[in-house]
Order: sequence, then C-alpha cells, then structure tokens
Amino acid sequence: MDKKRILVPGGAGYIGAHTVAALAAAGVETVVVDNLSTGFLEALPPEARFYQGDIRDKDFLDSVFEKERIHGVIHFAAFSQVGESMADPLKYYDNNLHGTRVLLSAMVDHGVKHIVFSSTAAVYGEPRHIPIQEGDPTEPTNAYGATKLAMENMMAWCARAYGLSYVSLRYFNACGAQKGGAIGEAHNPETHLIPLILQVPNGQRSHICIFGTDYPTRDGTCLRDYIHVMDLAQAHLLAMEYLLSGGKSDVFNLGNGVGFTVKEVIAAAEAVVGQKIPAQEAPRRPGDPAQLVASSQKARAILGWEPHHSGIEEILQDAWAWHRSHPRGYQSCARR
Ligand code: UDP
Repeated sequence: MDKKRILVPGGAGYIGAHTVAALAAAGVETVVVDNLSTGFLEALPPEARFYQGDIRDKDFLDSVFEKERIHGVIHFAAFSQVGESMADPLKYYDNNLHGTRVLLSAMVDHGVKHIVFSSTAAVYGEPRHIPIQEGDPTEPTNAYGATKLAMENMMAWCARAYGLSYVSLRYFNACGAQKGGAIGEAHNPETHLIPLILQVPNGQRSHICIFGTDYPTRDGTCLRDYIHVMDLAQAHLLAMEYLLSGGKSDVFNLGNGVGFTVKEVIAAAEAVVGQKIPAQEAPRRPGDPAQLVASSQKARAILGWEPHHSGIEEILQDAWAWHRSHPRGYQSCARR
C-alpha cells in the first residue's frame, strides 16, 4: 500500500483509531474524517490528517475528496450500540445507512473504487450452528445488525452498478487495546463487557452484572468470540491491499473461533488484575443470542489474515493496561 492515501471515516472511534495506528505504522498516508460524536481526536496519531465533519454532509465529503487524492476508503463511521438501536432505530438508519449512501455517492463522483467497511456478527442473529460461516442465514435480531446488513446489500448493488469493489468485515467481539496502553476502548456510556468488568478493579463500580444465567451454554451465560482490536486492525490493511491488487468484492468473518462465557471472562479478568471481581446475576439483555463464534477460515485463506493476540489473558492484559492508565478514557490525555 506504499504511496497510497486512504480515507478513514470514523477513524477516531475505537476500531477506527487502532486501524489508523496500524496504517501509520505501515507508512500508509491516512486522512481521517470524523464528526467526533463518539470518537476522540486524542486517539489519532500525529501523522494522520484530520477533517472534522459528518459523512451525511455531501458538500463536506466533496471538499475532502477534492483536497486529498484518495485511493481507497476504510469506513467505520456508524453507531454501534445494540440497545440504543432498538430504542431509536431511525437514528441508526440515518447515520449508518444514509451516511453510507452519501459516502458511496461521493466515492462514485470522485472515481474512488475501493471500500473496506465494518460489519458485525449481529447480521446473523441467532445462529443455527457454531462456528458461523459467511454463507449462513442472515436474520438480525436487532436494528443495529439490520442496518449493517442493509449496508452490505447497498455495497453489493453499488459494486454491480458503478464498478466499485468492497470488502465487508463481520467482526465478532472487538476488545483489547494497542500495546503500551496509549489508545484503547472508550465509550460513553460504556456497555461492553470487558471495559465494564475492568471498572471494578479501577474503583468505578462495585460489581459486574451477568445478563442471563439460563442460556444453553456450558455455564448458562452467553458465549462470545473475543477478538483483539489490533488483529482486527491488521485485517483492514490486508483487505485494502487485497482490493487495491484487484481482489473481488467479498464478505469475511473476523474472530478467533473460540468462545468464552461471561463467567469465564470474569474469571480470566480476576487472574489478570489479581483481585476478586464481584458479580451479580441479572435478567437476560434483549436481543442477545446465546452464542456467537466465528469461522474465520475464509479470511485466513483469501486475505492471509492470522490473529496474533488470540489468548483471552493477553486481550485482558492489554485492555487493563489502557483502562488502568486512562480511568476516564481520553479525558485525561492530549496527543494532538
Ligand atoms: N454482558 C454482561 N454484562 C454486562 C455487559 C455485557 O453479562 O454488563 C454480556 C452480554 O449479555 C453479552 C456479552 O456480555 O452476552 C458481551 O456483551 P458486549 O456488550 O460486550 O458485546 P456484544 O456481544 O453485545 O457485541
């Protein structure tokens, strides 16, 4: 990807910022566009050029495409909270679907042909079998997953009509942080399991709630495939290289292929932080499938992707290094 310039909408968010860091480390020129509604400027390395604005604003996007000669787009700009998507689906259709539509029309207008974008395991809904393969039925059980599936379909039609090529990356449970703890996961409000667990040893909550203990899993709690954010970041670089070298449009799962239950993640966190983490049983969270585990054989075979940080202990150690040094997320740092 030498001498290529990549536009990264949503590059100041969690997975976006880790991907921008990986692009910068690989010497790729990066242009970030973010409205900072959920992202943080402090998450960006100094090498990344930054434009604050909204992907739904076509004039704004046109001005960026005119100023910067862009070779490909890695698109993260979307809302991603399942619960919020159920309470306010129109907010999700507007940002995720309408935003992507405007972005695609800007790409078409400016002759940019390649796009890698964030999708999710939530496109599958309740899986029929484990591990989940890309050709399995897609029947989302929440509005967030429905908007991501609709984005995938929009890409497919646009690829046919306008000669675009795309890669859709269906992430399982993104977690962990860059080595060294300079950037990491920061959501407001936080809803994800690992950051919430680590708020207990950080003195910010008394206990973690376990949402549902009557699932058909080995200990009754939900089972998920936790994948390190730097492994996800690497997949975006490989996917963009694949498209730039003529690869055809496709969809890939990204996970480790190993599931951990909520109780197992809590126990692993206790071992990493060296203290007991009190847990309370709570009702199921609406829209949660019992288990989600990826088959990532296709990404391994076609993109040459290989997760390098797959142990749950390593994931928790990296997450803990970030949360412990940044108990209030990016509020306590200024990198730009
Ligand atoms: N979870 C939990 N307690 C919490 C937050 C999450 O038991 O305080 C469970 C949740 O029900 C799911 C798993 O942890 O089974 C992972 O949830 P998360 O929100 O991190 O990711 P998701 O699977 O929704 O993408």
